[in-house]
Amino acid sequence: MSGQRIVCVGAGFSGAVIARKFAEAGYAVLVIDERSHIAGNCHTEVDAATNIMVHKYGPHIFHTDDKEVWDYVNGFTEFKPFVNRVKAVVGDSVYLLPINLHTINQLFGRQMSPAEAKAFVAEQSRQDIDDPQSFEDQALKFVGEKIYKTFFHGYTRKQWGVEPQALPASILKRLPVRFTYDDNYFNHMYQGIPARGYTHLVQHILDHPKIETRLETRFESLDEDARHVFYSGPIDRFFGYSLGRLAYRTLDFEEIRVEDDAGIGTAVLNYCDAEVPWTRITDHKYFAPWSLDETKGSLQFKEYSRACEAQDIPYYPIRLVSDKARLGEYAELAKGVSGTTFVGRLGTYRYLDMDVTIREALDTAQAALDALGRGEVPKPLFARIL
Ligand SMILES: Cc1cc2nc3c(=O)[nH]c(=O)nc-3n(C[C@H](O)[C@H](O)[C@H](O)COP(=O)(O)OP(=O)(O)OC[C@H]3O[C@@H](n4cnc5c(N)ncnc54)[C@H](O)[C@@H]3O)c2cc1C
Repeated sequence: MSGQRIVCVGAGFSGAVIARKFAEAGYAVLVIDERSHIAGNCHTEVDAATNIMVHKYGPHIFHTDDKEVWDYVNGFTEFKPFVNRVKAVVGDSVYLLPINLHTINQLFGRQMSPAEAKAFVAEQSRQDIDDPQSFEDQALKFVGEKIYKTFFHGYTRKQWGVEPQALPASILKRLPVRFTYDDNYFNHMYQGIPARGYTHLVQHILDHPKIETRLETRFESLDEDARHVFYSGPIDRFFGYSLGRLAYRTLDFEEIRVEDDAGIGTAVLNYCDAEVPWTRITDHKYFAPWSLDETKGSLQFKEYSRACEAQDIPYYPIRLVSDKARLGEYAELAKGVSGTTFVGRLGTYRYLDMDVTIREALDTAQAALDALGRGEVPKPLFARIL
């Protein structure tokens, strides 16, 4: 084995999981991050004034069907059960999301059974739309005018900053409605939140004698002769934005501190009306219901979505046709970069849940270890990028 280290750019889940896998295989690893903390966008910290665990870049709930990934994260820290139950504010009413039998009955002032509601929504749906091209047409075909206008139109416009008619139909793949009273936001078998937060979890993943973690260090100014680099930063940034910037949405968080212990009374309130400028309010104490007795007051964040500028944090990749074309060009450039593998949500320009990020990091690291074992250079791109 050569004396050079493996370098992981980014101390989020991508970088940390790959670093751990290589460290356990006997390689020395350097993990760098330009931020002053580990855990990337999943970073959590306890607010000193209220003792509330704050998810600094927006709330994160772990949900997966991948037993191996679930066992992996539980091997590093304790998870507490958490079920996300989102509410939607529309006009003067509050509904339950995802749209379920309760939501439908409330919206239409009915007491329908599952079978009746199914037939009713089918009647509402726009069967005249044969080949939906846009998000709007797809939604109308699935649920009809009233459900679409109430829950999708305004929220989607605020979230993406464009008319839903301009978004591709592929965003809405399945019927977004349940005909039972199940209001568990996620369908996954395993759901929870680390009792001591995500940063504690990532800290344990990185806690290995063969891993050095260096914060406030940009890859661009790193002086290290690496054996191989795993890069979880933005792929367009790696190439100096030479082909232009990939488009993202960013979020602004308006912090609201209130003394009232009940706060908004729940973890997430979505605001569906286009006239309300924020997309949702989250109350972070409710993401740790096991510690409600130990917190003071409530700490809420109003979320606003807007186009990501050069100095902003990129959150959601937009992936319109023009972005995909540009991504394809960057992927071609990446294929020519020997000794670097692009990983994670920014390195591959995709929205990735944490479980998928970890799954891909484990698989990418294993494939790279196998390649190195055969004396080959690991591939620049393992993940499906387009
Ligand atoms: C608002 C929001 C809510 C989410 N909620 C959930 C959820 O509830 N459940 C779920 O499963 N997933 C959720 N996700 C997805 C989750 O955030 C990602 O799966 C996860 O962050 C991906 O990890 P990563 O390591 O690939 O990227 P990141 O966490 O973004 O880590 C990349 C790191 O690289 C560093 N970096 C970048 N470029 C450089 C450079 N040039 N030099 C040095 N360092 C660099 C960055 O500072 C960053 O720390 C959410 C995402 C968003 C945007």
